[in-house]
Amino acid sequence: MLPLVALVGRPNVGKSTLFNALTRSRDALVHDEPGVTRDRHYGVCRPEGQRPFAVVDTGGIAGEDEGLAGATARQARAAAEEADLVLFVVDGREGASALDDEILAWLRKTARPTLLVVNKTDGIDAREAINDFARYGIRDAIAVSSAHRQGLDELLSEVLGRL
Ligand code: GDP
Ligand code: MG
Repeated sequence: MLPLVALVGRPNVGKSTLFNALTRSRDALVHDEPGVTRDRHYGVCRPEGQRPFAVVDTGGIAGEDEGLAGATARQARAAAEEADLVLFVVDGREGASALDDEILAWLRKTARPTLLVVNKTDGIDAREAINDFARYGIRDAIAVSSAHRQGLDELLSEVLGRL
């Protein structure tokens, strides 16, 4: 069985865009409306010359109507709990939000190895964007732009080093 990497984060941070970039598919539903991806979605990332791994794109953890107790949230949690590695995806443009804080709190409870992925850093200062999440105390943070395929090689090598 392939190792499993779960993409977790609040709606609209770019999880599905990252999923597509990693799996080079258009399977995941990417949409401008927050919370569009409702179901868990699996794909395979095949890095050149490296071991493939499975990726799961989760729906918004806490959509406006759902809250942390909703069905989508439960699915996302289940995905995180079965993953070998969690990519906690955040929006580098908007910075840390209350919803990110909540997600981090339950991620800690799952005790899965977690890498912080600061997305949407195209055209902004990546280091500053990462700094906004420093209080989360996640030592391993990578700045990427999923939409522009920036930082993905570094992300891949960090991921592969942990599987
Ligand atoms: P999800 O809800 O977390 O799955 O987010 P989506 O992947 O659906 O993306 C939400 C919105 O953010 C879409 O409009 C994407 O085009 C946009 N987006 C995703 N990644 C990036 C990025 O790296 N840079 C910028 N500027 N926009 C992005
Ligand atoms: Mg999505």
